Amino acid sequence: MAYDFIIVGAGIAGITMAEQIANMLNKKVLLIDKRDHIGGNCHDYYNDDGILVHKYGPHIFHTNSTRVYNYLSLYTTWISYNHKVLGKIGDILVPIPFNLISIDKCLPDISNHVKSAILDEYEVNQKVPILEMKKSDNPSIAKLAHYVYENVFLHYTEKMWGLKPEQLDESVTARVPVHISYDCRYFQDTYQGIPRDGYTKMFANMLSNHNINILLNKDYHEILSIDYEEKKVYLYDEEFTGEVIFTGMIDEFFDYRYGPLPYRAMVFMDETSDKERFQENATINYPNDYHFTRITEYKYLTGQVSDKTTVQFEFPEQYDYRDKDANIPSYPIPQKKNEELYNRYKLLADEFEHVTFLGRLAEYKYMNMDVVVEKALNLISDKFMGEEF
Ligand code: FAD
Ligand code: UDP
Repeated sequence: MAYDFIIVGAGIAGITMAEQIANMLNKKVLLIDKRDHIGGNCHDYYNDDGILVHKYGPHIFHTNSTRVYNYLSLYTTWISYNHKVLGKIGDILVPIPFNLISIDKCLPDISNHVKSAILDEYEVNQKVPILEMKKSDNPSIAKLAHYVYENVFLHYTEKMWGLKPEQLDESVTARVPVHISYDCRYFQDTYQGIPRDGYTKMFANMLSNHNINILLNKDYHEILSIDYEEKKVYLYDEEFTGEVIFTGMIDEFFDYRYGPLPYRAMVFMDETSDKERFQENATINYPNDYHFTRITEYKYLTGQVSDKTTVQFEFPEQYDYRDKDANIPSYPIPQKKNEELYNRYKLLADEFEHVTFLGRLAEYKYMNMDVVVEKALNLISDKFMGEEF
């Protein structure tokens, strides 16, 4: 089949684009991925013990976008699921994000005093990033902020990123702000859930269209080559005059000419036990102990019933771009110097009129699934839905 589009990467970015190109534009698309499965980092599968697990870490869909929710709902129904996280501080488990209940649990002797200072300063339900709270000149609040910083953020962030919170863009720790509330949910978004039959099934439904051809186990270098001078892409040595959507790493596309963009990689260790439950909550964070950051028990997310249960430990480490088979780039590292390096690659990318860079790796942005889907839908309506296509 002659293709109108080639998409590199069958993660949620590439899959949303493929679905829209096939269904909305009625164009032919080749979707390739070097892994042996679709879904990218959102891929899930039934393990040997029959438990549905997320291969690359726990994925909870949450969004305030009705458009994104309605779009994905064309391809799945949902298990309504509100994620909750507990953090192990000393010997106790407390709600994360740190909230009014966490204050009661951690600081029982002074909790009334601390809460009244907090409620004088902030609105009920306000979300206060820890690095902002630390700057408070109210001594009671500064003391609380110091406690939370030391016990929840500092060591977790050092484990997770190999950096202190201040060395990262403030948006990173602001993802888990102190919540002036008794609401113990991890997210407050309007729509929250897990695809009823899993992410991979939802993706397979999205890709079920005769306009889409999927090629797995294929690194794009095996079939595509790039002429950087002429800004042209070749498919099996023939010039490809259609559109390319690239969702891999932007530095790899340009052969790392300015040096590699750094990533954190995660190593996941799954463990199945012959019992119904392993722990008392879906995810337990370990800010201060062990080398792993958190343990997630999948049956809480999926609602699956079984007399066995699988948990997953997450071990962060540095990604090495020279050893691609050993680890995968999970998190771009939000720091000014990395943003500047990305911007240099972005200038090169802008010169490729017929290559569009989309997604967490191609845009080097710490994006959740819903943001990626919304970007893909916008690209279709703003860039590709015109006469010339
Ligand atoms: P990816 O999923 O990385 O897909 C890129 C694809 O490109 C991959 O399949 C890769 O194999 C392929 N590729 C790369 N290079 C090549 C090459 N050379 N040749 C061929 N193919 C190539 N988001 C949420 O909304 N909720 C959550 O709870 C959540 N939890 C997360 C937990 C973890 C541990 C991580 C790491 C992320 C989490 N996310 C979550 C974010 C979510 O994973 C991303 O938003 C999403 O995966 C981005 O999709 P993508 O298609 O841009 O990238
Ligand atoms: N964080 C922390 N302690 C926690 C939870 C989060 O220090 O108990 C910080 C840490 O830097 C982490 C960031 O907040 O990387 C964002 O956390 P989130 O749970 O959103 O990370 P993700 O689910 O994307 O891995």
